[in-house]
Amino acid sequence: MSKPKTFAIRTFGCQMNEHDSERLAGFLLADGLVAARRDEDADVVVVNTCTIRENADLKLYSFLGQLKGLKEENPSMQIAVGGCLAQKDRDDVLRKANWVDVVFGTHNLASAPRLLRKAETDGPQIEILDAPDPESAIDAVPALNAVREIPWAAWMTIQTGCDNSCAFCIVPSVRGGEISRPLDDLVVEAQRLAEQGVTEITLLGQNVNSYGRDITKRSPLFSELLRRVGTIEGIERIRYTSPHPKDLRPDTIDAMAHTPAVCNQLHLPLQSGSNDILRAMRRGYTAERYLEKLAAARAGIDDLAVTTDIIVGFPGETETQFEETLAVVAEANFDNAYTFIFSPRPGTRAAALVDQFVADDVIKDRFARLVAVLDRSFLKKHEERVGRTEEVLVEGPSRKSADVLSGRTRQGKLVHFTPPDGGLRDGSLVTVSMYHAGRHHLMGTHVATLRGPKHRVRIPLLIS
Ligand code: SF4
Repeated sequence: MSKPKTFAIRTFGCQMNEHDSERLAGFLLADGLVAARRDEDADVVVVNTCTIRENADLKLYSFLGQLKGLKEENPSMQIAVGGCLAQKDRDDVLRKANWVDVVFGTHNLASAPRLLRKAETDGPQIEILDAPDPESAIDAVPALNAVREIPWAAWMTIQTGCDNSCAFCIVPSVRGGEISRPLDDLVVEAQRLAEQGVTEITLLGQNVNSYGRDITKRSPLFSELLRRVGTIEGIERIRYTSPHPKDLRPDTIDAMAHTPAVCNQLHLPLQSGSNDILRAMRRGYTAERYLEKLAAARAGIDDLAVTTDIIVGFPGETETQFEETLAVVAEANFDNAYTFIFSPRPGTRAAALVDQFVADDVIKDRFARLVAVLDRSFLKKHEERVGRTEEVLVEGPSRKSADVLSGRTRQGKLVHFTPPDGGLRDGSLVTVSMYHAGRHHLMGTHVATLRGPKHRVRIPLLIS
Protein backbone atom coordinates (compact mmCIF):
# COMPACT_ATOMS: atom_id res chain seq x y z
CA MET A 1 0.00 0.00 0.00
CA SER A 2 1.41 3.41 -0.92
CA LYS A 3 2.07 5.94 1.81
CA PRO A 4 -0.62 8.62 2.14
CA LYS A 5 0.32 12.07 0.88
CA THR A 6 1.07 14.70 3.49
CA PHE A 7 -0.13 18.31 3.52
CA ALA A 8 0.62 21.63 5.18
CA ILE A 9 -1.53 24.75 5.07
CA ARG A 10 -0.16 28.28 5.39
CA THR A 11 -2.63 31.05 6.12
CA PHE A 12 -2.29 34.76 5.42
CA GLY A 13 -4.92 37.17 6.67
CA CYS A 14 -7.84 37.29 9.03
CA GLN A 15 -9.65 34.84 11.29
CA MET A 16 -12.13 34.09 8.51
CA ASN A 17 -9.17 32.81 6.50
CA GLU A 18 -7.80 30.87 9.44
CA HIS A 19 -11.16 29.18 9.85
CA ASP A 20 -11.31 28.46 6.11
CA SER A 21 -7.92 26.75 6.54
CA GLU A 22 -9.37 24.52 9.25
CA ARG A 23 -12.18 23.62 6.86
CA LEU A 24 -9.66 22.98 4.08
CA ALA A 25 -7.76 20.64 6.40
CA GLY A 26 -11.06 18.78 6.91
CA PHE A 27 -11.43 18.34 3.11
CA LEU A 28 -7.84 17.15 2.67
CA LEU A 29 -8.02 14.65 5.56
CA ALA A 30 -11.32 13.34 4.17
CA ASP A 31 -9.51 12.81 0.85
CA GLY A 32 -6.94 10.55 2.52
CA LEU A 33 -4.07 13.00 3.05
CA VAL A 34 -2.36 13.28 6.43
CA ALA A 35 -0.84 16.32 8.13
CA ALA A 36 2.88 17.00 7.64
CA ARG A 37 5.10 18.22 10.45
CA ARG A 38 6.99 20.78 8.32
CA ASP A 39 6.54 22.42 4.89
CA GLU A 40 9.71 20.62 3.77
CA ASP A 41 8.06 17.25 4.46
CA ALA A 42 4.75 18.06 2.81
CA ASP A 43 3.72 16.56 -0.52
CA VAL A 44 1.08 19.29 -0.81
CA VAL A 45 1.39 22.85 0.49
CA VAL A 46 -1.81 24.89 0.37
CA VAL A 47 -1.45 28.65 0.75
CA ASN A 48 -4.65 30.34 1.87
CA THR A 49 -4.29 33.97 0.85
CA CYS A 50 -5.53 37.39 1.85
CA THR A 51 -5.94 40.47 -0.30
CA ILE A 52 -6.80 43.14 2.22
CA ARG A 53 -3.38 44.76 2.39
CA GLU A 54 -0.60 45.24 -0.07
CA ASN A 55 1.95 43.49 2.09
CA ALA A 56 -0.28 40.40 2.01
CA ASP A 57 0.52 40.14 -1.74
CA LEU A 58 4.20 40.69 -1.06
CA LYS A 59 4.17 38.08 1.70
CA LEU A 60 2.40 35.59 -0.55
CA TYR A 61 4.79 35.93 -3.49
CA SER A 62 7.81 35.89 -1.24
CA PHE A 63 6.51 32.69 0.41
CA LEU A 64 5.81 31.16 -3.01
CA GLY A 65 9.44 31.99 -3.86
CA GLN A 66 10.58 29.91 -0.86
CA LEU A 67 8.31 27.05 -1.95
CA LYS A 68 9.83 27.20 -5.42
CA GLY A 69 13.17 26.22 -3.84
CA LEU A 70 11.56 23.29 -2.03
CA LYS A 71 9.83 22.19 -5.21
CA GLU A 72 13.11 22.23 -7.11
CA GLU A 73 14.45 19.75 -4.54
CA ASN A 74 11.25 17.71 -4.57
CA PRO A 75 9.58 18.06 -8.01
CA SER A 76 6.57 15.95 -7.00
CA MET A 77 5.55 18.51 -4.38
CA GLN A 78 2.28 20.25 -5.26
CA ILE A 79 1.50 23.86 -4.39
CA ALA A 80 -2.07 25.14 -4.25
CA VAL A 81 -3.07 28.77 -3.78
CA GLY A 82 -6.59 29.57 -2.56
CA GLY A 83 -8.46 32.33 -0.72
CA CYS A 84 -9.15 35.99 -1.39
CA LEU A 85 -6.09 36.89 -3.44
CA ALA A 86 -6.55 33.85 -5.66
CA GLN A 87 -10.22 34.79 -6.10
CA LYS A 88 -9.23 38.31 -7.16
CA ASP A 89 -6.06 37.62 -9.18
CA ARG A 90 -7.17 34.36 -10.84
CA ASP A 91 -4.80 33.67 -13.77
CA ASP A 92 -2.30 36.22 -12.44
CA VAL A 93 -1.17 33.84 -9.70
CA LEU A 94 0.19 31.37 -12.26
CA ARG A 95 1.59 34.18 -14.38
CA LYS A 96 3.59 35.47 -11.40
CA ALA A 97 4.47 32.01 -9.99
CA ASN A 98 4.33 29.39 -12.71
CA TRP A 99 5.47 26.63 -10.33
CA VAL A 100 2.02 26.71 -8.65
CA ASP A 101 -0.12 23.65 -9.47
CA VAL A 102 -3.62 24.69 -8.39
CA VAL A 103 -5.48 27.98 -7.95
CA PHE A 104 -8.91 27.98 -6.31
CA GLY A 105 -11.06 30.72 -4.83
CA THR A 106 -13.11 31.57 -1.76
CA HIS A 107 -16.26 29.91 -3.12
CA ASN A 108 -14.89 26.41 -3.81
CA LEU A 109 -12.68 25.20 -0.96
CA ALA A 110 -14.14 21.72 -1.41
CA SER A 111 -12.65 21.54 -4.92
CA ALA A 112 -9.04 21.66 -3.68
CA PRO A 113 -8.51 17.85 -3.36
CA ARG A 114 -10.10 17.18 -6.79
CA LEU A 115 -8.02 19.90 -8.46
CA LEU A 116 -4.83 18.60 -6.86
CA ARG A 117 -5.52 15.11 -8.22
CA LYS A 118 -6.29 16.50 -11.69
CA ALA A 119 -3.12 18.59 -11.70
CA GLU A 120 -1.03 15.44 -11.20
CA THR A 121 -1.97 14.23 -14.69
CA ASP A 122 -3.22 17.30 -16.55
CA GLY A 123 -0.92 20.08 -15.34
CA PRO A 124 -1.84 23.33 -13.56
CA GLN A 125 -5.51 23.86 -12.70
CA ILE A 126 -7.32 27.15 -12.12
CA GLU A 127 -10.90 27.09 -10.86
CA ILE A 128 -12.50 30.28 -9.57
CA LEU A 129 -16.25 30.50 -9.08
CA ASP A 130 -18.27 33.69 -8.81
CA ALA A 131 -20.91 32.20 -6.51
CA PRO A 132 -20.65 29.69 -3.66
CA ASP A 133 -20.37 26.08 -4.72
CA PRO A 134 -22.90 24.11 -2.58
CA GLU A 135 -20.29 21.51 -1.56
CA SER A 136 -18.03 24.24 -0.19
CA ALA A 137 -20.78 26.23 1.53
CA ILE A 138 -20.32 26.77 5.23
CA ASP A 139 -23.54 24.85 5.87
CA ALA A 140 -22.13 21.81 4.10
CA VAL A 141 -18.91 22.01 6.11
CA PRO A 142 -19.65 23.80 9.33
CA ALA A 143 -17.22 24.37 12.19
CA LEU A 144 -17.99 20.80 13.29
CA ASN A 145 -16.23 19.31 10.29
CA ALA A 146 -13.32 21.71 10.43
CA VAL A 147 -10.11 20.35 11.91
CA ARG A 148 -9.09 22.47 14.84
CA GLU A 149 -5.58 22.45 16.19
CA ILE A 150 -6.83 24.05 19.40
CA PRO A 151 -9.61 21.71 20.43
CA TRP A 152 -11.23 23.83 23.14
CA ALA A 153 -11.76 26.90 20.94
CA ALA A 154 -13.76 27.04 17.72
CA TRP A 155 -14.55 29.68 15.16
CA MET A 156 -18.06 29.63 13.78
CA THR A 157 -18.79 31.58 10.61
CA ILE A 158 -22.23 33.11 11.03
CA GLN A 159 -22.21 35.21 7.87
CA THR A 160 -20.16 35.60 4.71
CA GLY A 161 -19.68 38.67 2.51
CA CYS A 162 -20.37 42.32 3.25
CA ASP A 163 -23.05 44.80 2.13
CA ASN A 164 -20.98 47.89 3.00
CA SER A 165 -18.75 49.78 0.63
CA CYS A 166 -15.82 51.13 2.63
CA ALA A 167 -13.65 52.97 0.13
CA PHE A 168 -10.43 51.16 1.09
CA CYS A 169 -11.80 47.64 1.17
CA ILE A 170 -11.81 44.93 -1.47
CA VAL A 171 -13.81 42.40 0.56
CA PRO A 172 -17.31 43.08 -0.88
CA SER A 173 -16.07 42.62 -4.43
CA VAL A 174 -14.15 39.44 -3.55
CA ARG A 175 -16.49 37.79 -1.06
CA GLY A 176 -19.82 39.20 -2.36
CA GLY A 177 -22.83 40.46 -0.40
CA GLU A 178 -23.87 39.36 3.08
CA ILE A 179 -25.30 35.88 3.45
CA SER A 180 -26.32 34.89 6.98
CA ARG A 181 -26.56 31.28 8.07
CA PRO A 182 -29.86 30.24 9.67
CA LEU A 183 -29.93 30.96 13.39
CA ASP A 184 -31.23 27.51 14.39
CA ASP A 185 -28.40 25.83 12.43
CA LEU A 186 -25.84 27.91 14.29
CA VAL A 187 -27.31 27.04 17.66
CA VAL A 188 -27.29 23.31 16.82
CA GLU A 189 -23.70 23.60 15.59
CA ALA A 190 -22.65 25.34 18.80
CA GLN A 191 -24.34 22.59 20.83
CA ARG A 192 -22.41 19.92 18.92
CA LEU A 193 -19.15 21.84 19.43
CA ALA A 194 -19.86 21.93 23.16
CA GLU A 195 -20.41 18.16 23.09
CA GLN A 196 -16.93 17.85 21.48
CA GLY A 197 -15.41 19.70 24.44
CA VAL A 198 -15.26 23.18 22.91
CA THR A 199 -15.63 25.79 25.64
CA GLU A 200 -14.91 28.98 23.67
CA ILE A 201 -16.61 30.02 20.44
CA THR A 202 -15.75 33.04 18.29
CA LEU A 203 -18.55 34.09 15.95
CA LEU A 204 -17.11 35.28 12.64
CA GLY A 205 -18.41 37.59 9.94
CA GLN A 206 -17.35 40.73 8.09
CA ASN A 207 -20.08 42.73 9.81
CA VAL A 208 -21.46 40.43 12.51
CA ASN A 209 -23.91 42.82 14.06
CA SER A 210 -25.86 43.09 10.85
CA TYR A 211 -26.18 39.29 11.03
CA GLY A 212 -29.63 38.17 9.91
CA ARG A 213 -30.54 41.37 8.03
CA ASP A 214 -30.83 39.25 4.86
CA ILE A 215 -32.99 36.66 6.64
CA THR A 216 -35.61 38.86 8.25
CA LYS A 217 -36.42 42.50 8.67
CA ARG A 218 -37.34 41.49 12.22
CA SER A 219 -34.04 42.43 13.75
CA PRO A 220 -32.26 41.96 16.05
CA LEU A 221 -31.07 38.50 15.23
CA PHE A 222 -27.46 39.00 16.32
CA SER A 223 -28.39 39.68 19.93
CA GLU A 224 -30.75 36.70 19.82
CA LEU A 225 -27.86 34.56 18.54
CA LEU A 226 -25.60 35.72 21.39
CA ARG A 227 -28.28 34.90 23.95
CA ARG A 228 -29.07 31.48 22.51
CA VAL A 229 -25.46 30.36 22.12
CA GLY A 230 -24.90 31.73 25.62
CA THR A 231 -27.41 29.29 27.09
CA ILE A 232 -25.62 26.21 25.74
CA GLU A 233 -24.19 24.08 28.50
CA GLY A 234 -20.42 23.87 28.29
CA ILE A 235 -19.91 27.08 26.27
CA GLU A 236 -18.14 29.33 28.75
CA ARG A 237 -16.77 32.05 26.50
CA ILE A 238 -18.28 33.67 23.40
CA ARG A 239 -16.41 36.29 21.41
CA TYR A 240 -17.21 37.79 18.03
CA THR A 241 -15.51 39.73 15.28
CA SER A 242 -15.91 42.10 13.54
CA PRO A 243 -18.79 44.41 14.25
CA HIS A 244 -19.28 47.70 12.38
CA PRO A 245 -19.72 50.72 14.67
CA LYS A 246 -22.74 51.98 12.71
CA ASP A 247 -24.55 48.67 13.36
CA LEU A 248 -23.72 48.31 17.05
CA ARG A 249 -27.16 48.53 18.62
CA PRO A 250 -28.42 48.75 22.21
CA ASP A 251 -29.86 45.23 22.05
CA THR A 252 -26.36 43.82 21.32
CA ILE A 253 -24.93 45.71 24.27
CA ASP A 254 -27.81 44.43 26.39
CA ALA A 255 -27.26 40.83 25.25
CA MET A 256 -23.54 41.11 26.01
CA ALA A 257 -24.23 42.56 29.44
CA HIS A 258 -26.81 39.93 30.42
CA THR A 259 -25.37 36.76 28.87
CA PRO A 260 -22.65 35.58 31.26
CA ALA A 261 -20.89 33.47 28.61
CA VAL A 262 -20.33 36.48 26.32
CA CYS A 263 -16.88 37.87 27.04
CA ASN A 264 -16.33 41.48 28.11
CA GLN A 265 -14.48 42.28 24.91
CA LEU A 266 -15.52 44.45 21.98
CA HIS A 267 -13.58 45.06 18.78
CA LEU A 268 -14.91 48.32 17.36
CA PRO A 269 -12.98 49.49 14.28
CA LEU A 270 -12.57 53.28 14.37
CA GLN A 271 -10.41 53.62 11.19
CA SER A 272 -10.13 57.42 11.56
CA GLY A 273 -11.09 60.13 14.05
CA SER A 274 -11.65 62.74 11.34
CA ASN A 275 -15.21 63.17 10.13
CA ASP A 276 -13.98 64.25 6.68
CA ILE A 277 -11.88 61.11 6.35
CA LEU A 278 -14.65 58.89 7.72
CA ARG A 279 -16.96 60.37 5.06
CA ALA A 280 -14.38 59.76 2.34
CA MET A 281 -13.96 56.21 3.66
CA ARG A 282 -17.78 55.78 3.49
CA ARG A 283 -17.88 54.44 7.01
CA GLY A 284 -21.36 55.70 7.87
CA TYR A 285 -20.58 57.29 11.28
CA THR A 286 -18.89 60.35 12.70
CA ALA A 287 -16.19 60.43 15.39
CA GLU A 288 -18.78 61.81 17.82
CA ARG A 289 -21.21 58.99 17.08
CA TYR A 290 -18.41 56.44 17.47
CA LEU A 291 -17.51 57.83 20.90
CA GLU A 292 -21.20 57.80 21.92
CA LYS A 293 -21.49 54.13 20.99
CA LEU A 294 -18.25 53.35 22.81
CA ALA A 295 -19.51 55.14 25.94
CA ALA A 296 -22.82 53.26 25.75
CA ALA A 297 -21.00 49.93 25.46
CA ARG A 298 -18.73 50.74 28.41
CA ALA A 299 -21.67 51.96 30.49
CA GLY A 300 -23.69 48.84 29.71
CA ILE A 301 -21.03 46.11 29.97
CA ASP A 302 -19.04 45.66 33.13
CA ASP A 303 -15.23 45.74 32.80
CA LEU A 304 -15.31 45.91 29.00
CA ALA A 305 -12.04 45.78 27.01
CA VAL A 306 -12.19 47.60 23.69
CA THR A 307 -9.88 47.10 20.72
CA THR A 308 -9.90 48.84 17.37
CA ASP A 309 -8.46 49.22 13.86
CA ILE A 310 -6.95 52.48 12.59
CA ILE A 311 -5.67 53.38 9.13
CA VAL A 312 -2.99 56.06 8.82
CA GLY A 313 -2.51 58.04 5.60
CA PHE A 314 -5.86 57.52 3.88
CA PRO A 315 -5.73 59.58 0.64
CA GLY A 316 -6.08 63.28 1.35
CA GLU A 317 -5.49 62.95 5.12
CA THR A 318 -4.15 66.31 6.32
CA GLU A 319 -2.12 66.98 9.46
CA THR A 320 -5.20 68.47 11.11
CA GLN A 321 -7.30 65.45 10.24
CA PHE A 322 -4.63 63.11 11.59
CA GLU A 323 -4.52 65.12 14.82
CA GLU A 324 -8.28 64.61 15.07
CA THR A 325 -7.61 60.88 15.00
CA LEU A 326 -4.98 61.25 17.74
CA ALA A 327 -7.49 63.17 19.87
CA VAL A 328 -10.18 60.49 19.49
CA VAL A 329 -7.66 57.74 20.22
CA ALA A 330 -6.50 59.54 23.36
CA GLU A 331 -10.12 59.93 24.50
CA ALA A 332 -11.14 56.37 23.65
CA ASN A 333 -8.50 54.67 25.83
CA PHE A 334 -8.30 51.51 23.80
CA ASP A 335 -7.04 48.25 25.29
CA ASN A 336 -5.38 47.27 22.03
CA ALA A 337 -5.39 48.26 18.36
CA TYR A 338 -4.41 47.05 14.93
CA THR A 339 -2.77 49.95 13.14
CA PHE A 340 -2.33 49.99 9.39
CA ILE A 341 -0.62 52.21 6.88
CA PHE A 342 -3.01 52.86 4.00
CA SER A 343 -2.25 50.63 1.06
CA PRO A 344 -4.28 51.00 -2.15
CA ARG A 345 -6.07 47.85 -3.21
CA PRO A 346 -6.69 47.86 -6.95
CA GLY A 347 -10.39 48.07 -7.72
CA THR A 348 -11.32 50.09 -4.62
CA ARG A 349 -12.48 53.71 -4.62
CA ALA A 350 -9.55 54.76 -2.47
CA ALA A 351 -7.04 53.29 -4.92
CA ALA A 352 -8.27 55.73 -7.57
CA LEU A 353 -7.40 58.76 -5.42
CA VAL A 354 -3.78 58.63 -6.57
CA ASP A 355 -3.35 62.39 -6.66
CA GLN A 356 -4.25 62.55 -2.95
CA PHE A 357 -1.88 59.84 -1.69
CA VAL A 358 0.04 60.98 1.38
CA ALA A 359 3.85 60.97 1.14
CA ASP A 360 5.58 57.95 2.71
CA ASP A 361 7.71 59.98 5.14
CA VAL A 362 4.64 61.86 6.37
CA ILE A 363 2.78 58.59 6.91
CA LYS A 364 5.72 57.06 8.77
CA ASP A 365 5.92 60.03 11.11
CA ARG A 366 2.16 59.94 11.76
CA PHE A 367 2.21 56.19 12.32
CA ALA A 368 4.94 56.52 14.97
CA ARG A 369 3.00 59.30 16.73
CA LEU A 370 -0.17 57.20 16.70
CA VAL A 371 1.62 54.14 18.09
CA ALA A 372 3.08 56.27 20.90
CA VAL A 373 -0.40 57.45 21.97
CA LEU A 374 -1.82 53.96 21.70
CA ASP A 375 1.03 52.39 23.66
CA ARG A 376 0.36 54.74 26.59
CA SER A 377 -3.28 53.71 26.48
CA PHE A 378 -2.51 49.96 26.34
CA LEU A 379 -0.11 50.21 29.28
CA LYS A 380 -2.57 52.23 31.34
CA LYS A 381 -5.33 49.72 30.68
CA HIS A 382 -3.08 46.83 31.71
CA GLU A 383 -1.80 48.63 34.81
CA GLU A 384 -5.39 48.97 36.00
CA ARG A 385 -5.51 45.18 36.21
CA VAL A 386 -2.40 44.69 38.36
CA GLY A 387 -3.41 43.36 41.81
CA ARG A 388 -6.57 41.73 40.47
CA THR A 389 -7.26 38.02 40.30
CA GLU A 390 -8.74 37.04 36.95
CA GLU A 391 -10.05 33.97 35.17
CA VAL A 392 -7.57 32.69 32.54
CA LEU A 393 -8.09 29.97 29.95
CA VAL A 394 -4.73 28.18 29.59
CA GLU A 395 -3.35 28.07 26.02
CA GLY A 396 0.00 26.36 26.64
CA PRO A 397 3.66 27.16 27.38
CA SER A 398 4.66 30.77 26.77
CA ARG A 399 6.82 31.45 23.74
CA LYS A 400 9.63 32.74 25.93
CA SER A 401 9.89 29.96 28.50
CA ALA A 402 8.50 26.44 28.83
CA ASP A 403 8.27 27.02 32.62
CA VAL A 404 5.73 29.79 32.14
CA LEU A 405 2.21 29.27 30.80
CA SER A 406 0.16 31.66 28.70
CA GLY A 407 -3.57 32.15 28.50
CA ARG A 408 -6.31 34.73 27.97
CA THR A 409 -8.66 36.50 30.33
CA ARG A 410 -12.31 37.10 29.52
CA GLN A 411 -11.20 40.52 28.19
CA GLY A 412 -8.89 38.79 25.72
CA LYS A 413 -5.77 39.90 27.61
CA LEU A 414 -2.68 37.78 27.12
CA VAL A 415 -1.36 36.59 30.50
CA HIS A 416 1.92 34.82 31.23
CA PHE A 417 1.91 33.10 34.59
CA THR A 418 3.75 30.66 36.79
CA PRO A 419 1.89 27.36 36.96
CA PRO A 420 1.42 25.33 40.15
CA ASP A 421 3.65 22.33 40.90
CA GLY A 422 2.68 19.53 38.54
CA GLY A 423 1.80 22.00 35.77
CA LEU A 424 -1.51 22.49 34.01
CA ARG A 425 -2.94 21.05 30.84
CA ASP A 426 -3.91 23.29 27.89
CA GLY A 427 -7.59 24.17 27.98
CA SER A 428 -7.73 24.31 31.80
CA LEU A 429 -9.53 27.21 33.44
CA VAL A 430 -7.65 28.88 36.29
CA THR A 431 -7.49 32.08 38.27
CA VAL A 432 -4.33 34.17 38.18
CA SER A 433 -3.22 37.07 40.36
CA MET A 434 -1.66 39.82 38.21
CA TYR A 435 1.56 41.44 39.41
CA HIS A 436 3.01 43.15 36.33
CA ALA A 437 1.69 45.00 33.28
CA GLY A 438 3.30 45.41 29.89
CA ARG A 439 1.80 47.08 26.82
CA HIS A 440 0.71 43.80 25.30
CA HIS A 441 0.58 41.35 28.19
CA LEU A 442 0.13 40.85 31.90
CA MET A 443 2.19 38.68 34.23
CA GLY A 444 0.76 36.78 37.15
CA THR A 445 0.81 33.84 39.49
CA HIS A 446 -1.56 30.88 39.52
CA VAL A 447 -4.10 31.10 42.35
CA ALA A 448 -6.57 28.26 41.79
CA THR A 449 -7.58 25.72 39.16
CA LEU A 450 -11.30 26.02 38.38
CA ARG A 451 -11.41 22.99 36.10
CA GLY A 452 -9.21 20.86 33.84
CA PRO A 453 -9.57 20.59 30.06
CA LYS A 454 -12.86 19.30 28.63
CA HIS A 455 -11.63 18.41 25.16
CA ARG A 456 -10.16 15.22 23.85
CA VAL A 457 -6.60 14.82 22.53
CA ARG A 458 -4.91 17.78 20.82
CA ILE A 459 -4.24 16.99 17.15
CA PRO A 460 -0.89 18.30 15.85
CA LEU A 461 -1.49 19.91 12.46
CA LEU A 462 0.57 22.19 10.30
CA ILE A 463 -1.97 24.96 9.79
CA SER A 464 -0.44 28.35 10.47
S1 SF4 B 1 -17.46 46.69 6.70
FE1 SF4 B 1 -16.15 47.86 5.31
S2 SF4 B 1 -14.07 47.21 5.92
FE2 SF4 B 1 -15.46 45.67 6.74
S3 SF4 B 1 -15.56 44.08 5.17
FE3 SF4 B 1 -17.27 45.47 4.79
S4 SF4 B 1 -16.50 46.94 3.28
FE4 SF4 B 1 -14.72 45.90 4.19
